[in-house]
Amino acid sequence: MPLSAQVMDALNSVAWTQSSVEFRGNALQAWHSARLALPKALKDKKWTAAIEQTGSFKKLPPAIIVDIDETVLDNSPGQARFLLEGNGRYSMDKWMKWTAEQKAKAIPGAAEFLRDAAAKGVTVFYVTNRGPKEEANSRANLEAEKFPLKNAALGDIGDTVLMAGEKPEWTSDKGIRRALIAKYYRIILLCGDDLNDFIPARLTVAERASKAKPYDSWWGERWIILPNSAYGSWEDTLFGFDRTLSPQTIQERKVKSLRRD
Ligand SMILES: [Mg+2]
Repeated sequence: MPLSAQVMDALNSVAWTQSSVEFRGNALQAWHSARLALPKALKDKKWTAAIEQTGSFKKLPPAIIVDIDETVLDNSPGQARFLLEGNGRYSMDKWMKWTAEQKAKAIPGAAEFLRDAAAKGVTVFYVTNRGPKEEANSRANLEAEKFPLKNAALGDIGDTVLMAGEKPEWTSDKGIRRALIAKYYRIILLCGDDLNDFIPARLTVAERASKAKPYDSWWGERWIILPNSAYGSWEDTLFGFDRTLSPQTIQERKVKSLRRD
């Protein structure tokens, strides 16, 4: 079967994620870094990982915020289906069908670390851009993979799985949800695969780089990042976040972004 340009874009990423020891090593390395940072983060009451955390937070109970997709759950089999079935294009319908099956496996090292953190009194929040209709299936999938889940959180947060759009102000920019959690908890680690899991990311390539630069020393300590070269805001910024563009135009913009120095 001939593969379209868009499929070819993601083929290497999905194959690497699924087959390589290199991916597994990167994931284990990320969660090992989190494990090393945890005692320091718990002890130092001035420590926060969230730029949204302001005011006095020394006495707040500790929390870790993790993203779901490609941070704690591996959706690469879903990605493989998008590549190989139908027209090779991602769609919301295909994505919803995949998450409804609750088949995603844990990213190596994620569940073990988060269970150990929870046992030390840390509340684990899942801040995801999956939608409200996906909450029950997402919870069931996380439960099946033995992730720590709570049904209640402090203040007006609700529970510990925060979907995009669950409240009108909970946009896909995760900063508002981080700020809400920061009112009641000291956020000791942020864990994600996308810049949006750490700071606002819907910016140009240059803006993203300059906004992240002051936090260079936070990676691997306060900010734990998982590898995802298959998709993310890093990709969308190359074509102005405009998913209505044709696959050909999208690829042309990506080619234009390449540097040969
Ligand atoms: Mg993600």
